[in-house]
This record gives sequence, structure tokens and C-alpha cells, in this order.
Amino acid sequence: MSRVIGVLSGKGGVGKTTITANLGAALTNIFKKNIVICDMNIHASHLGLHLGMYEDPPATLRDVLKGKMPITNAIYMHPQTGIKIICAPLNRECKNPTQTEIGQLVSQIKNNYDMVILDCAPGLGEEATAAISAIDDALVITTPDLPSVIDAVKALDILRKKNKNILGVVINRFDNKSYMLTENEIASTCNCRIVSRIPEDKKIPESISKGIPVVLIYPDCTASRSLKNLASYISGSYYREENIMDRIKNFFNFEKFNF
Ligand code: ADP
Ligand code: MG
Repeated sequence: MSRVIGVLSGKGGVGKTTITANLGAALTNIFKKNIVICDMNIHASHLGLHLGMYEDPPATLRDVLKGKMPITNAIYMHPQTGIKIICAPLNRECKNPTQTEIGQLVSQIKNNYDMVILDCAPGLGEEATAAISAIDDALVITTPDLPSVIDAVKALDILRKKNKNILGVVINRFDNKSYMLTENEIASTCNCRIVSRIPEDKKIPESISKGIPVVLIYPDCTASRSLKNLASYISGSYYREENIMDRIKNFFNFEKFNF
């Protein structure tokens, strides 16, 4: 059954776009799911940048919202990774889609895919709440610091009020520093299960600068392992840590990506 999954947070800058791009990469390439990722953070549209798209593709959400074309025409297949992406425009003005518009756009594509993953705007403003209305399931991202966790609690409250299925909380940039909140503290503050801990890993900013999701370009780094486990959880697919033979096979497979 096809699902619309929102990647959300209360506070900005906690890793939503990084996680959306990597879920897109892992689900498409490793778990062989037919999915599309969509930039719903219209005014900070960074999803394409994570795939090295430094210019708009031929069509974006702006064209769709202006009524120039159906949303199916704005689905762009990223040539190096095969990820299907709907971009918001990088530099050009774009109006905020309303709740009804997002609902209509998503319903036009939803049934053609196993999953549609929305990289949502942070916070509790109109941009985020309009997207929340269109989703079936939510992943709430936080970093292990108090401001981010407190804002995650607010996002979770809205999701609960709207009766959305909450897949769980993801702690990103996790490390064992004594001044950071622990997993148990975050779970009890959020009153929600923690479904993934993605470590602080410098391979992530490095992969962003190369425009290839970390799960593909550095598949064995610690962050990639957590991200692949998260993709496995979301898709309900089995995932086994790679052994040496898998790594050799991956080495040859990833040559096809032409990084
Ligand atoms: P958001 O979409 O929530 O605003 P981003 O995904 O853009 O957040 O992440 C903000 C920045 O944080 C990224 O540019 C990236 O360099 C960095 N980052 C995200 N996750 C990690 C991580 N696990 N380890 C190290 N750096 C990270
Ligand atoms: Mg973002």
C-alpha cells in the first residue's frame, strides 16, 4: 500500500533534508522501492542540492502551483543515482501551497509509488502544517539538545492532534557528549519511541559537498549504517550489515553511479 511520509522537525537545521535525501537513495538503490522524494520546504529548498543539483530541473513545484503542468511532469530522475525527486525552485519566487493544494498534488502521484517522502518545513507555521495534513506517517527529527527536543515535542503534539501515524523520533547528530541529552531522556520527554540514532559523522557534510547521498558514496561509515537501518525500518525490508563479500559487490555496483 502506498504511503506518504513526512520528515518533520520542530526546530530547523536538525537534518531533515539530509535524512530525506538518504532515505531516497537507500530505498531506491538498496531496497529497490519505487519512491519519490519531494521538497516541501518551499523557501529553503535544499533537497536538490544534496543531489548536486545546483540549478533547477526543467520543471519544479513552482510550475505545478502556477497550473502550467501536472505534478507528474515535475518528477525528475536524478541521472547518477536514479532517485526520483520533485524540487521546489532554488532562487525563484514560489507561493506557499495551501493544505488543499498539497493534498491534491500528493493524491495525483501517491498511487504510482510505494512511498512519497516529503521533506517538510520546520516548525509549526503554515508551511509545515499544510504538509502535515497530506501525510499518512511522520518521522520527527531532533538533535540531542534541549531546544531541538522541546520543539520536537510541539511537532509531535500537532501530529497527535491531527491523528497522524507517528513512525517515531530520529535522533540525528548523536554523540556521547555528557552535555547532550540521552536517548532515554529524549524518549521520555517526547513520549515516543526512538527509531534511529544517526551519529555525528563528518562524512555527511563531505557527501553533501559532493552532491551524492552518504549511503551511496560512503556506504560503510557510521551514519550510513544508521540511515540504511532507518530505511529498512520504514520500508519493512530486511537489512543485514554488509560483510566483506557484500562490500566487494557494492564496490563494483557503485561504479555504475559514475560519481
Ligand atoms: P534541515 O533540513 O533539518 O534544516 P539539514 O539536513 O539541512 O537540516 O542539515 C543541516 C546541516 O547539518 C547539513 O548541512 C549537514 O552538513 C549537517 N548534518 C546533518 N546531519 C549530520 C550528521 N549526522 N553529522 C554531521 N553533520 C550533519
Ligand atoms: Mg532542510
